[in-house]
Amino acid sequence: SQELSGKHAVVAGLGVSGMPAAKALHRLGARVTAVNGGDGEGPRRQAAELEALGIAVRLGDDRTLPKGTDLVVTTPGFKPTSPLFAAAAEAGVPVWGDVELAWRLRGPGSAPWLAVTGTNGKTTTVQMLAAVLRAAGLRTAAVGNIGVSLIDAVLGVEPYEGLDVLAVELSSYQLHWAPSLRPHSAAVLNLAPDHLDWHGSMEAYAAAKGRIYEGNQVACVYNADDADAKPRTEDLVREADVAEGARAIGFTLGTPAPSQLGVVEGVLVDRAFVDNRQHQAQELAEVGDVNPPAPHNIANALAAAALARAFGVPPSAVRDGLRAFSPDAHRITHVADVDGVAYVDDSKATNTHATEASLAAYDPIVWIAGGLAKGATFDELVARSAPRLRGVVLIGADRQLIRQALARHAPDVPVTDVDRTDTGAMASAVREARALARQGDTVLLAPACASMDMFVNYNARGDAFAEAVRALAAEGRSEQ
Ligand code: ADP
Repeated sequence: SQELSGKHAVVAGLGVSGMPAAKALHRLGARVTAVNGGDGEGPRRQAAELEALGIAVRLGDDRTLPKGTDLVVTTPGFKPTSPLFAAAAEAGVPVWGDVELAWRLRGPGSAPWLAVTGTNGKTTTVQMLAAVLRAAGLRTAAVGNIGVSLIDAVLGVEPYEGLDVLAVELSSYQLHWAPSLRPHSAAVLNLAPDHLDWHGSMEAYAAAKGRIYEGNQVACVYNADDADAKPRTEDLVREADVAEGARAIGFTLGTPAPSQLGVVEGVLVDRAFVDNRQHQAQELAEVGDVNPPAPHNIANALAAAALARAFGVPPSAVRDGLRAFSPDAHRITHVADVDGVAYVDDSKATNTHATEASLAAYDPIVWIAGGLAKGATFDELVARSAPRLRGVVLIGADRQLIRQALARHAPDVPVTDVDRTDTGAMASAVREARALARQGDTVLLAPACASMDMFVNYNARGDAFAEAVRALAAEGRSEQ
């Protein structure tokens, strides 16, 4: 970090990762200019905060490189094709992501990183991992893409002093710009097309995810069940240049092979970190210890367990940690039962891969879906899930795309279209869903789309759903 003192660093972006990066560089003695394309109210407020600290800010021009720049630190808002990076390359100026900066700021004795990436399940898995590490008596924090600055965690800024190990969530954006990252161990949970507009292609997206395995010291954890995915997460391990002695560790929802974790008769078992030669299975926890015990979430638990075991955590702490974990809001959250129908909020299912996982967890389902499709296609999702669908209620701007896929692959499933786009549309959707549902069914909000056409974010969408369900429940009571 001494090497940064006196250097002219340009921080690209004033968001959740740009602000801590700019402040940290400034504290370390760098001369910082923060640049941002937008110059609206939000950026102006952020700019004022930085300027008060003595940091220069340039709003409205994020394309040209200021003269004398020694280093660019970038954040996810900037695509790799941004002119700023072409200018940096031309001038021979290095570009680091916020994660690269955090990695380079580690000092001797700094906490090792257990890192997680994947298309879906990252946040859940790092939170499970942190719970398991805590159950083992370790001081830890879930940090990174989850919304907690890795830079602050690495620098030991309050409340992150004296941590033993970090549970780090990394996005493909962050990995793209983190060439020297070398985690203790890392997991890629799954790979499905997402964010291809940013990366340019599935190959580039997978390559960024695969970066997480580079230089792994102990374990490269992969999904042994994604045999159909191209590339497979196991392929990414094979292509990575890992430290000598680092092992590939698979996780599977089936019976594990040696060097894998898996599930045997409702018990999560470890056949990787066992010290007998037969690789006999070490029991870790019951499926029922995982909340919720949906298949994709068991996979998350196995990945978290693999990283914890790689770090030397005993089996009992895996069980205790998983029991202590409860998921964040809007991730398969059971809201209420009304007239024998369960209402479940998975508003966080913002892409088809996530939605397929939550549709696989229930049967029969009245599915509430729709919003902003972000270029996705719905044919595969609908074809695979059709047998479970009692009915579908569509909301949002791109609902016709889902309707067309349903017409092709599930022509017999009744579909109701809520053609309002105000926020009250969710209450209508819930009513329509109630009309379609029978006792024992699940009404599942798993939109497979982003929410910004109708809501501020997925939280607001899930809150609107929960509110409508509670209103339904209250109505039922007053009728009796
Ligand atoms: P991320 O941080 O990767 O966005 P989250 O843990 O917040 O992941 O979960 C996002 C969504 O993905 C949720 O809707 C959840 O139902 C779904 N999901 C969680 N884990 C998985 C998984 N392993 N495979 C597929 N979908 C998943």
